[in-house]
Amino acid sequence: MNRLLIIGPPGAGKGTQAVKIAEELKIPAISTGDIFRKNIKEETELGKEAKSYIDSGNLVPDSVTNNMVRARLDEADAAHGFLLDGYPRNIAQVHELDAILADKNQQIDRVLLLVADNDELVARLLNRAAEQGRTDDNEEVIRHRLKVYEEETAPLIAIYRERGIVKEVDGLGEIADVTERILKALS
Ligand code: ADP
Repeated sequence: MNRLLIIGPPGAGKGTQAVKIAEELKIPAISTGDIFRKNIKEETELGKEAKSYIDSGNLVPDSVTNNMVRARLDEADAAHGFLLDGYPRNIAQVHELDAILADKNQQIDRVLLLVADNDELVARLLNRAAEQGRTDDNEEVIRHRLKVYEEETAPLIAIYRERGIVKEVDGLGEIADVTERILKALS
């Protein structure tokens, strides 16, 4: 029962929580954003393909992202569970993920929905911009990423709700408190 997704708007704290939850459950945290950033840093072909999309706050094309996720889920450490952060991000990716897992007789067991209000999200992301210097963390790009989330990613929640596997968790408050809330929601 440890094939998990974490979904939420940019700035909700998905990445931070994903690492903690995955450690607790002894499964890998797989973040598509992190994989892209690593490839950009190392100037790989994948990184070169993804960079302009990421810097403008748009989704990287599915043709690139889907293959990357399929390859990552084929690695040995993901055989008995994983926590995916940042994928799926649109409806086509939901279907692709279903297909990737169906090939292995697997399915998603739970979806964690991490929620926070928009003003808090923008404030957190601007703060992170100052601290980490992520190239997609300036105000204009942040607002665009929130819009892409609303238009492309938020509709996925209804699909997973129909499957009865969504657990909603409030992302406001101390990091450790949010982690506790998530672990409780999963137990
Ligand atoms: P955040 O959730 O904080 O916005 P991420 O680190 O998850 O940031 O993603 C950063 C960027 O990487 C996205 O804005 C997008 O350009 C790209 N990206 C990440 N995951 C996907 C995906 N599943 N499909 C397409 N693009 C993606």
